[in-house]
Amino acid sequence: MADAEIGVIGGSGFYSFLDDVTEITVDTPYGSPSDSLFLGEVAGRQVAFLPRHGRGHHLPPHRINYRANLWALRSVGVRQVLGPCAVGGLRPEYGPGTLLVPDQLIDRTKARAQTYFDGKPLPDGSIPNVVHVTFADPYCPTGRRAALAASRGRDWEPVDGGTLVVIEGPRFSTRAESRWHAAQGWSVVGMTGHPEAVLARELGLCYTSLTLVTDLDAGTETGEGVSHEEVLRVFGQNVGRLREVLFDAVAALPDSTARDCLCVGAHDGWDLGIELP
Ligand SMILES: [Zn+2]
Repeated sequence: MADAEIGVIGGSGFYSFLDDVTEITVDTPYGSPSDSLFLGEVAGRQVAFLPRHGRGHHLPPHRINYRANLWALRSVGVRQVLGPCAVGGLRPEYGPGTLLVPDQLIDRTKARAQTYFDGKPLPDGSIPNVVHVTFADPYCPTGRRAALAASRGRDWEPVDGGTLVVIEGPRFSTRAESRWHAAQGWSVVGMTGHPEAVLARELGLCYTSLTLVTDLDAGTETGEGVSHEEVLRVFGQNVGRLREVLFDAVAALPDSTARDCLCVGAHDGWDLGIELP
């Protein structure tokens, strides 16, 4: 039997209060994930929690082993992933405390491994073929619906849709970059939503991003620009209700064996060359 069917990649605030948590370490052909997996039960569902930045937040966004993280989750049985993250708002109306569930993604990262299908042999000798997954709609429509309904159920009106632009970091944007992002019509800016989403798709996992706006990005602000202290302060103010929304979303997700979304058919017609866990 699988250890978990739903994965949550977020901070320790999302699992540390659960009564009964089992910590397991998982190794992958791509190295170690950010931390142990923490297995627990939420609303009768088996959930695997993974601290994205590791315990104590020691991994900056560009050093997270995204491939190992998603592979580890799949290897314990996870088929649906919720990925909450902190972002900057690119429009004045998306102020701190806004919950936006994006439906599109722009990749502005520069140096991250973002495919499992790179033709390089795995330790077991198998060789991944070249595979081009469809990514026109990067997020799971079922997961998005569950997240939006969960947020509304907690009287937290979410923004339904928008574009998350993911930058390499770890620095924040310049004012010119931020103004350019906003001028493109993009909604929020973060540092971790990619390649998390595409790697989930490559593994046939459902992936839903829940972005919490912690600050207005540099181009939309007249002050000093984004500070890390401000990000942490706003995140701390909202972590409780974000956790409630996440847990309600977990409860509302379909049984993983009954998925009928586009994510399931990501490999249709492709010979992968490797065995997925
Ligand atoms: Zn899906």
